Amino acid sequence: MSSAWRGGSTSAWRRLRAHVLARDGYRCRAHADGWCDRVPGQHTCTRLALPGGPNAGHAHHTHGRTVTGDDPQHIVAACRACNLHIGDPTAHADPPNRAVSRW
Ligand SMILES: [Zn+2]
Ligand SMILES: [Zn+2]
Repeated sequence: MSSAWRGGSTSAWRRLRAHVLARDGYRCRAHADGWCDRVPGQHTCTRLALPGGPNAGHAHHTHGRTVTGDDPQHIVAACRACNLHIGDPTAHADPPNRAVSRW
């Protein structure tokens, strides 16, 4: 018996994701909280982050998984379109101290 699955989703991550989706009411919080606005480009938010089915939600690491790990405080529910839109924030080399002017 292997202790962990390599690559892909672990059962622990799936449980954590389910927890985040339920906490956020199965709504796309990434879009509502403005995480999408940080990344230029167009996408259509479905507003849904359901536990399963065609509109199954994703869990977005707002500061990148490599930064915060799997801490639910830094993970928000996101619909598929938005999670794909945002991607990994650490991949966008934004200087951390440069505030968005509209805030
Ligand atoms: Zn969305
Ligand atoms: Zn969005």
